[in-house]
Amino acid sequence: MTDRCEHFDAIRPVTPSAQRCEACAALGARWTRLRICLTCGHVGCCEDSVHAHALAHHLETGHPMIGSFERGETWGWCYPHRRYFDPMPGVPKRRAPLAHLVHRVLRRR
Ligand SMILES: [Zn+2]
Ligand SMILES: [Zn+2]
Ligand SMILES: [Zn+2]
Repeated sequence: MTDRCEHFDAIRPVTPSAQRCEACAALGARWTRLRICLTCGHVGCCEDSVHAHALAHHLETGHPMIGSFERGETWGWCYPHRRYFDPMPGVPKRRAPLAHLVHRVLRRR
């Protein structure tokens, strides 16, 4: 699907709040995969995880769009429409620090 919904307006250039699910880490819980809020950069765990903190964040804040925060994944999800978009604009690339540096050096040429 390439068409968009009005929630694309809620997407901001975000900085990830963490590299893990902080809410799970605080509980000593484990998570399956990470999702990132595309409005504020909140990182939370997916709905397959016990606590589903990404969903909890959406319910708490009303921020509608999340993206995958797993390496190599570019998709996102609109909660209100329950729609999947791939690639989702605004999904931050999660690279290994070294790969990130290499990419920057290559781009500078
Ligand atoms: Zn939508
Ligand atoms: Zn969590
Ligand atoms: Zn948010």
